[in-house]
Amino acid sequence: MSEPVHALDLSHEEWIDVSTKRWGLPKYRADQLCQWIYDKKVFNVHEMTNLSKDLREKLVYDLMILPPIPVTEETSKDGTRKFLWQLYDGERIESVLLTHGNHTTACLSSQVGCPLNCSFCATGQSGFRRDLTAGEITGQLLAMEKRLGANIGNVVFMGMGEPFLNTRAVFKAISILNSPKMRNLGARHITISTSGIVPGILDLAEFPLPVRLSVSLHAPNDALRSKIMPVNRKYPLGPLVNALRTYQQKTGERITLEYVMIQKVNDETELAYEMAALLSGLGVYVNLIPYNPVKDVYQRSTPERIKAFAAVLTQLGIENEIRREKGTDINAACGQLRRRESAN
Ligand code: SAH
Ligand code: SF4
Repeated sequence: MSEPVHALDLSHEEWIDVSTKRWGLPKYRADQLCQWIYDKKVFNVHEMTNLSKDLREKLVYDLMILPPIPVTEETSKDGTRKFLWQLYDGERIESVLLTHGNHTTACLSSQVGCPLNCSFCATGQSGFRRDLTAGEITGQLLAMEKRLGANIGNVVFMGMGEPFLNTRAVFKAISILNSPKMRNLGARHITISTSGIVPGILDLAEFPLPVRLSVSLHAPNDALRSKIMPVNRKYPLGPLVNALRTYQQKTGERITLEYVMIQKVNDETELAYEMAALLSGLGVYVNLIPYNPVKDVYQRSTPERIKAFAAVLTQLGIENEIRREKGTDINAACGQLRRRESAN
């Protein structure tokens, strides 16, 4: 007998194919199955009550619905919830649920660990294990929505891993979440955050869905950026900014830039001037993020230094916002929980 079907990895076309050809069912059964999984968050075939008993018994052996299994869940004082999940092969990944008013955002992982080794990032420090499948990506959202008992409005790829080193699975996951017969989540509610992988940015420029782009800049010149983000040696700022221009020309979308404020590493006001020059002509929005300490070598910039940096950007016409750190008391910076658990 062939391998069972992994439900969460199927696109809508694949659902129809499997339902009609493999199981000999009418097309509408595919939509019913998707409705149970993506709408009602029912992952147990026995609970799918509009399917006949015979069909349920058949599907139990041929359809695996494997959302990640919760290992720990923590809630911070500000309401941020952090989940550590276990995958079918025992690997662990994290997701974070952020709440602002009645706005909810799920922060999803795209890889187990990350090979890019940014010097300030806990995920980077714990090494790379493997890529996630499309179903392991969407499964994080579904499992959180099941816990919450409600749908989550926004998705950001800011958990563990570099989405553009796993572009195929990430794009497939986005198409699945976006499909009207599946999760029906608007593409404009989805943001990919990248450390600056140029081919991925160019692929996104061609992607048919209007997904938002966020780029982790963290330094406005190659010398400093290569020091804290080794990926900059492969994709330096010149080609990166060119790719951003191409993305903006093709999509007309504003680009968000993330800038983690690390005390006396990248927070001198001179660097704000350099950043404004680098970004001239691009429509950007800069998020200044107080560093979430994960290593003793770095500290968070003082509020005064962050304000001074922000003031220069504002003066030079670069729209920006100082982000309030979220979930610091539960180690909500990406990669921190997995690292702590594996150290125990
Ligand atoms: N690999 C992608 C997406 C995951 S990281 C990327 O780098 O963009 C998501 C964001 O968290 C990035 O902007 C990253 O720089 C930031 N980040 C990593 N470690 C952090 C820390 N300790 N404090 C604050 N932000 C951090
Ligand atoms: Fe990877 Fe992003 Fe962490 Fe850098 S910041 S190590 S790219 S997850």
